[in-house]
Amino acid sequence: MEILHVSAECYPYAKVGGLADVVGTLPKYQQQLGHIAKVVVPMHRTKFLYENEWNVEHKGGFMMGDAHFEYTIIKEKTNKLDFDLYCVDIYGLLDRENVYSYDDDTERFTAFQIAVVDWLSHWEHRPDAVHVHDHHTGLIPFMMRNCYDYRHLAAVPTILTIHNAQYQGWMSWDNSNYIPAWDSWQGGLLEWNNTINPLACAVKCADRVTTVSPSYMEELTQKANGLEGLFRMERAKSSGILNGIDTVVWNPETDTYILDNFSIKDAAHGKKLNKKKLCKDFKLDDKLPLFIYIGRLVGEKAADLLPQAITDSISQLGKRMNFLILGSGDKRVEDHLTYLNEGYAGFYNSKIGYNEKLSHQMYAGADFLLMPSRVEPCGLNQMYALRYGTIPIVRSTGGLKDTVIDFGEQDGFGIRFNHASVWDITYSIHRAVELYDDKEKMTELRTQIMEIDNSWEKSAAKYIDLYNSIQLK
Ligand code: ADP
Repeated sequence: MEILHVSAECYPYAKVGGLADVVGTLPKYQQQLGHIAKVVVPMHRTKFLYENEWNVEHKGGFMMGDAHFEYTIIKEKTNKLDFDLYCVDIYGLLDRENVYSYDDDTERFTAFQIAVVDWLSHWEHRPDAVHVHDHHTGLIPFMMRNCYDYRHLAAVPTILTIHNAQYQGWMSWDNSNYIPAWDSWQGGLLEWNNTINPLACAVKCADRVTTVSPSYMEELTQKANGLEGLFRMERAKSSGILNGIDTVVWNPETDTYILDNFSIKDAAHGKKLNKKKLCKDFKLDDKLPLFIYIGRLVGEKAADLLPQAITDSISQLGKRMNFLILGSGDKRVEDHLTYLNEGYAGFYNSKIGYNEKLSHQMYAGADFLLMPSRVEPCGLNQMYALRYGTIPIVRSTGGLKDTVIDFGEQDGFGIRFNHASVWDITYSIHRAVELYDDKEKMTELRTQIMEIDNSWEKSAAKYIDLYNSIQLK
């Protein structure tokens, strides 16, 4: 089977969040299962782009509104990622430093999608499935069925995976002429609440819809930033498939980013050394339990609750723990977290920004990972933490609910709480501090979590079953 993944991000080429990790890993596992998986992304000006060599695969052009655009498809030469990686370059639109957050993102991602479909229409053969990811690629299933120029692609099965339904790519009907000429009576497929909604459009048009965890699928039927009704209507073709993690990149035994590699057998010693180094670098006390947070500092992650939860914990329990925060996002939260650096020096530190290497060192050196998310479609951090022997403290939502069991329950190993509130977070920190004092239990839990298999094998096979179910239609 030949699968083409279309995405805005792909690790290690360009990463903003978990989407990149998934699109950089799932195809690798699909290849291992004997299939051909390819990935196409917009050309971003990243280190990976400049450090690797590329072949020109195809050149073409299209109209978007009144403007003509030329595009070039380039392919990474050496199969470095174990699958074919293609980039779409559109002069003036796509060769930018960042993946998102430009004023012309609507034009950029619409043009990217048209270029992908146009390129696909020039292939001598058809892929067996086109797998699109999130709203940046949500117009593709529609274009393949309804745009006059691309209708010969209509029989190719399409799958949408939703990594985050909060963002939907809304665009004004004033820009409807960006989309190549389509059957006007099909306009309702683009529409949701008086705007063109690419995510809603993909939910309607794709043959199958998946979310990145089963619990998130259920939650979307109740709360989906305006699309709840649509998810209920399309429930029959939708399912949740839990993400896996790349166990080669995220392996404490071989990770080149961390000071001391360790396995389950010598985790106590290995984690101790990594913690010592981390605490030294950030002026923390390595004898106390170390709580970390890694991620976007946004409302979805409940990062706004962290400053209060941290200061409350310290005032209630005394200086019995350390905190280290890595992330970026909401300026107000960034400033608040930075402000605490001085007043709580010695027990708290924060680093604003994105730092892949430091994130690995933190997973390796910490005792507990905080994830109080209000919304968490799957969440990868908790799975990385488990692999590195760090106990996750999570809010019971989405993929966190599907991957972490509270240590108070049968076969449990983590800490779970119900509400995204300062009180629930501080109470969980309290439980963790007490757990930390029970060395025997900590050792037992560490061994248990490092043995958990969250690799992609099972989930990659589930996607293949899904593609097959459409071919048999
Ligand atoms: P989301 O995609 O919603 O941001 P996920 O948990 O699915 O959340 O994935 C987040 C990924 O991004 C993880 O690989 C995490 O380690 C990484 N990450 C997030 N913020 C940072 C940061 N500031 N520095 C390094 N890695 C980060």
